Amino acid sequence: MSIKTEVAIIGGGLAGLTAAIVIRRMGFSVVLIEKKKYPFHKVCGEYISLEAEDILNWLGLPVKNWNLPIIDNFRITHPQTKDFRSKLPLGGLGISRFKLDDHLKKLAEIEGVMVYENSKVNQVTNGEKSHILDVFSTETFQIESDVVLGAFGRNKPHFATSETEKQTPQKGFIGAKMHIQADLPKNLIELHHFSGGYCGISAIENDLFCICYLIDSQIVKENKGDFQKVETSVLSRNRNLDHYFSDFEKRTERVSTAGVYFSPRPISNNGILFLGDSAGMIPPLAGNGMSMAIHSAVLASEVVKQFLLGKINKQEMVKNYESSWNSAFKNRLKMARTLQNIMQIDFATRLSLDVFNLAPSLFKLAARSTHGIQIPVPKIL
Ligand SMILES: Cc1cc2nc3c(=O)[nH]c(=O)nc-3n(C[C@H](O)[C@H](O)[C@H](O)COP(=O)(O)OP(=O)(O)OC[C@H]3O[C@@H](n4cnc5c(N)ncnc54)[C@H](O)[C@@H]3O)c2cc1C
Repeated sequence: MSIKTEVAIIGGGLAGLTAAIVIRRMGFSVVLIEKKKYPFHKVCGEYISLEAEDILNWLGLPVKNWNLPIIDNFRITHPQTKDFRSKLPLGGLGISRFKLDDHLKKLAEIEGVMVYENSKVNQVTNGEKSHILDVFSTETFQIESDVVLGAFGRNKPHFATSETEKQTPQKGFIGAKMHIQADLPKNLIELHHFSGGYCGISAIENDLFCICYLIDSQIVKENKGDFQKVETSVLSRNRNLDHYFSDFEKRTERVSTAGVYFSPRPISNNGILFLGDSAGMIPPLAGNGMSMAIHSAVLASEVVKQFLLGKINKQEMVKNYESSWNSAFKNRLKMARTLQNIMQIDFATRLSLDVFNLAPSLFKLAARSTHGIQIPVPKIL
């Protein structure tokens, strides 16, 4: 089997699904390939910054009807110092990826996007004008496409990884999350530091809470991959977490992901534009990887439209995307990576909390510099 399309998107997370809907509404044919089957749980803190509010509505998500928790207060704790609490400059909504990604996938299909689930792209080769994708599903097939968008998230497939990236050793983290029934304020997001990582907890739909942590992969390795042991022996050194993991009823199985890195990555490779985490991941403590994924999809859709209308060539498409990506995200990634480095050091985290308690405006400054303004809604015509 062989399929021809104008745009092929690898990966159906927030970046891929948003790009699919936007580009389809622009009038182009779109095929999206996702290796898993919707709906599925994904490691994520599930707090989406309100900078995505307009675009979520534009995409057609009935956000208002869902009565999602509005989260506008923040608390951070460290085992050896006083907690810091603050109002969030922008705030966010709590929604599970199980619900959000599945709904976007349905919207994409309604728009006419051909979505292949349970299908994995194994290779992309460049022809003279188009790209050929080898897809592995119940049967193998090929897709010929004028444009390819890589929205495969933080774990890059080999065909999209540059030689430099393959050779650079990286300090890796592991993420884990589950949904729990908790007796906590719904307008509050908490971040609890422990030696080797941090754990966030905030409300989502259906009166549930998402508890999600990021931990040095070495610690998980030392505990032979036993997450429950990690939770009771490492995370529990922060007394808040001790109580959260023992007292609150678990409502979903724990899901985990390895290979979480925060080093800068290329924004494109061989004419493929990278969206969302594929282009570099913002540390989760910033709480806006989801909005950035959506925003990058809007930026990519605009240059793809210019290219498919014949207004620019492929090289210009890549150059224009990289330039708009850099002006939207480069600085906030730098700031978030600095904060992540601080959070990796016990003493530095404790000191930061003390400083924030003395000068709360510094917290607001840090929070603002890792976020952007309202994501612009796409120009379709
Ligand atoms: C521990 C942790 C906590 C976080 N908490 C938050 C938070 O609270 N708020 C926030 O805004 N952000 C948070 N983030 C970040 C956020 O989850 C990501 O930034 C966001 O999911 C990026 O979306 P994406 O579409 O780029 O990638 P993803 O959502 O990862 O989607 C990529 C998709 O591509 C598919 N795929 C991969 N390879 C292939 C292939 N070869 N063929 C076909 N399909 C493929 C995958 O199955 C996946 O569905 C957190 C991240 C971590 C690790």
